[in-house]
Order: sequence, then structure tokens, then C-alpha cells
Amino acid sequence: MKQMPKNAPKRNNPFKILLIIALLGAGLTLLFPGNSSFFSQSTVEDIPLTGLLEKYGDDELKTIKIKDNQILAESFDGAMYRAFKEPSANVKDLGLSDLSKRTSVEVIDTSGGKIWINILIGVAPFILLVLFLVFISRRASSMGGGEGGPFGFGKSRAKVYDKTKHSTKFTDVAGAYEAKDEVEEVVDFLKNPKKYQKMGAKTPKGILLVGAPGTGKTLLARAIAGEADVPFFSVSGSEFVEMFVGVGASRVRDLFKTAKRNAPAIIFIDEIDAIGKHRGQGVGGGHDEREQTLNQILTEMDGFESGTNLIVIAATNRPDVLDKALLRPGRFDRRVHIDMPDMEARLQILTLHAKNKTLAPNTNLQKIASKTVGFSGADLENLLNEAAISAVKARQKNVSQEDLENAVEKVSMGPERRSRRITDSERNIIAHHEVGHAIAGHFCETSEPVHKVSIISRGMALGVTWFLPEEDKYLMSEQKMQEEMVSLHGGRIAERLIFGQTTSGASNDLERISRIARSMVMTYGMGDRKKVGPVVFSEKSKGWGGMDFHEKDFSEETARAIDEDVQHLILEAESKCEEILKKNLSLLKKIATDLLKKENISREEFLAYFKEKPEK
Ligand code: ADP
Ligand code: MG
Ligand code: ZN
Repeated sequence: MKQMPKNAPKRNNPFKILLIIALLGAGLTLLFPGNSSFFSQSTVEDIPLTGLLEKYGDDELKTIKIKDNQILAESFDGAMYRAFKEPSANVKDLGLSDLSKRTSVEVIDTSGGKIWINILIGVAPFILLVLFLVFISRRASSMGGGEGGPFGFGKSRAKVYDKTKHSTKFTDVAGAYEAKDEVEEVVDFLKNPKKYQKMGAKTPKGILLVGAPGTGKTLLARAIAGEADVPFFSVSGSEFVEMFVGVGASRVRDLFKTAKRNAPAIIFIDEIDAIGKHRGQGVGGGHDEREQTLNQILTEMDGFESGTNLIVIAATNRPDVLDKALLRPGRFDRRVHIDMPDMEARLQILTLHAKNKTLAPNTNLQKIASKTVGFSGADLENLLNEAAISAVKARQKNVSQEDLENAVEKVSMGPERRSRRITDSERNIIAHHEVGHAIAGHFCETSEPVHKVSIISRGMALGVTWFLPEEDKYLMSEQKMQEEMVSLHGGRIAERLIFGQTTSGASNDLERISRIARSMVMTYGMGDRKKVGPVVFSEKSKGWGGMDFHEKDFSEETARAIDEDVQHLILEAESKCEEILKKNLSLLKKIATDLLKKENISREEFLAYFKEKPEK
């Protein structure tokens, strides 16, 4: 015995289609109000065609209206009838042209409207389908899709960079010597391709610029084009991730075709990680699209003939997520790393961007460079701009050193928010919290010097203790991480020692502490070796339809051991911190009282408190 499964999907479909057709019909009727009277009579009786013709034969009918395959008739006694005919049958075929009858026969010509209806009926399902696809791909693709909507797809949106207008040169890129050195060769290749061909040297096809955001990757790519004096086709990876599968691929084709026509040229794919992610992970339309786009890029790059004077430069800050196929020889086999600027590079970037600003003669950019460890080129540019803006606001005639110093704080910690109303008792807690951080940090050997303690709100923070590194560092020792936790505990412990309880203000501190402890155990092998050992425990995140979920590569027992070890490290740091603050309780109170009055305490002022007993 066969049984239809419940809720068989097949049953659904015709129903849905019927529904759509019904809706369409209703919509069309509304679209043609002129004909609506045809249907509006509520007491129309459907009769067979023969019945209607019979009534005609009996001369009972006053009017007959024929529209398409419908015949609507009104009898002399006011009754309405409707019958259907073959679309091809005309008045004569039906025998309705009998002049001896009293009936007035009217044929309503719908051919004008018919075209419209046909077009609409033809197009409407397609439009619905398109809307549906858009809806689906919007949901499925985590990339969201670029601007522009569903029309005009297939064409590359590459922006051709007009070299006559703004020619970027290597001199516009400060610092980044190694990177510039490496790409210099590319410039030479674009300028004198023959030289290389004669020697039989294979020239690079693809260059991958790798670096943190704001380190000048886009800038360097422009500079390469500017130096080589060739057209520059720039497109962003996120623009490829479109709503229709296949559009990205056709865009890539188009882009390469245009570039080849203009060779020698540079194609620049910014943020390639948007399309170059590992294939075969995740599901959904966005992913399929990415894969096709990526494959097309690979095909195009493989397809260059040796004479093609075309170089593809791509930029990313996530080289780890790139598909391996992108990095194979003949593709983006050359990697150029752009580092965060060191002290000297920062000074050069500042000097470069200060050229078009009016600085006071006594400004010292060197000082600013030394205070901006961890700033990217873009941050530094932003800093100078902020300083200039505040100089304008204060109606100064030039940018002072103070403007620059304030801008450093503003860029690294957010703008001051003096308008935020804070009660006196809260200010009291904040002051002790911040001084707690400062003192705990001060007594840690590896801690950066305290640069400033402040109880003025900035961005999200209610107060700030600012430790400033004096030099660029590339390694972090175990001790440094432990002591970082000690100073982070300072705020909370100070609150507890002074007020007997802690507040919600320490949540960010605790978050950071947990992150440090967790990476010490899980990433750096600094945990208790008897329990967890020097192993990297990773929690891979897998993309699945735009969602991430985590997959542990270790057992539950190990997870518990890790948790215990993390806990242990955190508690250890906490008790160390408590010890320091208890010893310096009177100093804590004294500095906090002063801070309440002054709002800010500078490095010199802070150090002066420790002059009497130099026991560090
Ligand atoms: P990325 O593409 O690496 O995120 P950008 O190239 O867009 O960074 O840099 C942003 C801005 O920062 C640039 O327009 C430039 O003004 C400034 N900048 C970054 N690095 C440098 C540098 N090394 N020299 C000069 N300016 C820089
Ligand atoms: Mg960029
Ligand atoms: Zn804090």
C-alpha cells in the first residue's frame, strides 16, 4: 500500500504556484480599472456556451460583450450570464451576427492591453524570482553584497585611477623601506619588460601586500602604478561578492579584459580576503559566488601569456584565511609585508603629513613619534588632522605641541567627554580605581611607565590610566603578561580595599585579564606543564551559512585543566596585586585625593610621589 508522506513537498509547490497566479490575476485586474466593470457584477451566472447561444437564439438577450475568451450577456429581464469560448472563435463563428435579433453585440478589443498583460505575465514571475533570489542571497551571504542592486551586473566596477590627476610616488610612502625595495623591481618590470624577456626571466604576475589595516597597502599599490606610470585598475574584494552567482566571475573576466587592452597595467584587488577565503567551507549563495569569483581570478592569472605586461596586486590584512591556491607559484607567489611603523618610520610619516599643515615652530614631532607606539600610518595621519582641527577650533594661528599631544590621546583613547555627568561618589570610586591600576603597574618590573592618570571620561571609559611604552617591542615575556594582569587587577582591588566592594567598572579589566591568561595557557605554552603542557590548543571556528561555530580540538578533561590553570594564573596575579596595594594603601588614598582635585596626573607628578622611598 502506498502512502503519501505527510507534508510532501510536492504538494506544496502547485499550491504555491496557484497562489502566485491568483495574486497576479488579482493584481492585473486592479491594474486595469477600465475593464473592472466587466467582472464587478456580483450576480453573474456561469453557463455553458451552448446555453448562452440558445438564449441568443431565443432572442432573450439585450447585450453581449465579448472580451477575449469570455462572453458576458445581459438578458432583458436583467440577469447576467457568462460563458467561455475558444479564443480563436469570432462573432461569426459563434453565429452571433444574426441581424434579426435584438441583441447588441459588442466586442471589447483588448489587444492594446493584451500586450501589456502578456509582458506583465511574462515578466512578473521573473521579477518575483529575482526578488526572491535577492532576498535569499542577502540572507545567505554574510558579505551583504555591494551597492548598485541587481542591475548592471557583470560589468567590472573597477575604478581606473587617473594618473595625470594624482600621481602617487614612492616618496609619498614614508618608512616601509623593505616593502618599497621589493616592489621597485615590479616597477622596473613594467617599465622595461624587454630587458627581462631577453634574459628569459619570469616576471612576477601577482603580488600580495600583507599588513595591518592602515599601514599603507593601498597607498603603496598606488605608488607602484604612479612610479611605473601605467593605468591602475582598482577594485575591492567586497565588491565582487555580489548577490548573483556568476556575476563576480563575469566581472573578473571583464576587469582582466579591460586591463589587458590597456597593458602595461596594474590590477589592484583590495581586501582580497573577502573573496580569497578557503574554499569548501560553509554553505550558502555567498560562498558559491566567492568560489566562482576566486576560480575566475585564478584562471585569468594562469591565462596570461608570457608577453602580457600585466601585474595583479592584491592586499589583505588576513593572509591566514586566504585560499592556498591563490599563493601557488604563478599566482600571488610574491608576498610583501608592510609592518607597523617603528619609531623612525612614524617620525617620517608624521613629517610627511605635517607638510601641508601649519605647525608652530617649536613643535617636536620626534616626541610625538615616541609616544605613538602601535599607531599605524593612518592613525598618524588622523592624529595630525585632529590636532589641526583643534587648532582651528581654538582660533590659533598654528598647530601647537599641545594640540599634537592631545590628539595622541584622542586618537588612542577616544575624545574627552566632559559633558558626562558623574556624581561625586562615583568620581571618588573612579579615582581610586585608576590610581589602583597606576600603583599596581608601577611596582611591576616589566610594566610600561605610567604616562597619565585621568578621571575625565573618554569614549567608553570613565577614567584612564595610561601606560606608555618607551620603545617598540616585538616579544612579550611570561613575566610581562603576568604583570600586565597584576596592573589590570589594580582597579578592582583598590575598589575593594577602599570601599569594601567592587563595581561594574572593572568588567573590561577582567575581560582583558581573562584573555591574557587564556592565551598564556592555550597559545603560548605558559601553563602548568603537568596539567596542560606546552601545546597549542585551538578552537577552530568554522563558517557555516554566515554563522561561526567553534570546534575544540581537545578533550573535555583538557578543557577542564585549561580552565583551572587559567583560573590559577588569574588568582595568582590578583593576590600579587592585593599585596602591592595593601602595602601602599596610604599612598593610594593620597594620590586619589589629589587626582579628584586635579582630574589629571602627569607622569612627573605621579613619579614624585615615590621620590621619598625609591624602593622600586
Ligand atoms: P591600508 O590599505 O593598509 O589599510 P591605506 O593605504 O589605505 O592603508 O592607508 C591609509 C592612509 O594612511 C593613507 O592614505 C596615508 O595617508 C596614510 N598612510 C599609511 N601608511 C603610510 C605611510 N607609510 N606613509 C605615508 N602615509 C601613510
Ligand atoms: Mg586599504
Ligand atoms: Zn580599570
